[in-house]
Parts: sequence; C-alpha cells; structure tokens
Amino acid sequence: MEKTYIMLKPDAVKRKVVGNIINRIENKGYNITTIKMFNLDEEILKEHYSHLVDMPFFPELVSFMTSGPVIGMIVEGDDVVQGMRNLMGPTKWVEAMPGTIRGDFANNTTQNLIHGSDSVANAIIEIERFFG
Ligand code: UDP
Ligand code: MG
Repeated sequence: MEKTYIMLKPDAVKRKVVGNIINRIENKGYNITTIKMFNLDEEILKEHYSHLVDMPFFPELVSFMTSGPVIGMIVEGDDVVQGMRNLMGPTKWVEAMPGTIRGDFANNTTQNLIHGSDSVANAIIEIERFFG
C-alpha cells in the first residue's frame, strides 16, 4: 500500500479546520496510520524545503511554519501520493479550484494549509524525516 507524508500547517490549526481536512482525507477512503502534533524549527525547514531556501519568500515561509504547531500524518491508500495532491489542489491558492482543500480555504500562497509529498520517493524521505 502506498504511503504519503501529510502535514497540516499552522494556519489549519489556528483556523480550526483540522477536523474538516481530516474528514476529507477519511471520506476519500484513505487511512491515517500515524499522527502527531509538534513544532518545526528553521533547521528542519531548511531540509524539508531545501528546494526553496534561495527563494525571496523563504524567510516568510519559515516565520509562518514556525508560528505554531503542525500536525504530521502518514496516510495510506492506492496511489495516495497523487490522490492527496489532487485533494489538496495546486500550491497557488488562486489556481486551486473550489472543492479542493486549498481552493476552499486558502487565500494566500504561503499560508495554504497543507503539505503533501510530491512523489513516492519524497514520501519515503519525508516519513523518515518526521517519524524516524
Ligand atoms: N510557497 C510560497 N510561495 C511560493 C511558492 C511556495 O510561500 O511562491 C510556500 C507554500 O507554503 C508552499 C511551500 O512553500 O506550500 C512549498 O512549496 P512547493 O513548491 O513545494 O509547493 P507544495 O508542494 O506545497 O504545493
Ligand atoms: Mg512541495
């Protein structure tokens, strides 16, 4: 069974839409097999977002991602990596269609509620990074 790493970002926790997002994951038929709430620091974000460290928005991204707790999950299902990306919607809120998590809740590209691994290979790396 395929696995992906999902992380509900600090805005999802603050806005109290964690239950709504988890409902969508469960309604789709995926299994949440591990879940924990924790805080991120800059060091782990430089690793997790290594493809973005040189972008002008990186300091804002770190400030946002360390502004409160996140909820990390391992989610399992057939083709769950792509399936979760579909449920999430694209990175930029303005491109995310209604019905997707970002399309329904985000109005900012940094504060876009949810992270999901973008490939099976990265899912394995991210699950190891956050759950060991
Ligand atoms: N991000 C941002 N501005 C951008 C692009 C990305 O603030 O122009 C943030 C946003 O929170 C995004 C995260 O950086 O979710 C990781 O970017 P990535 O391109 O990996 O998008 P994702 O895989 O989250 O859709
Ligand atoms: Mg990404």
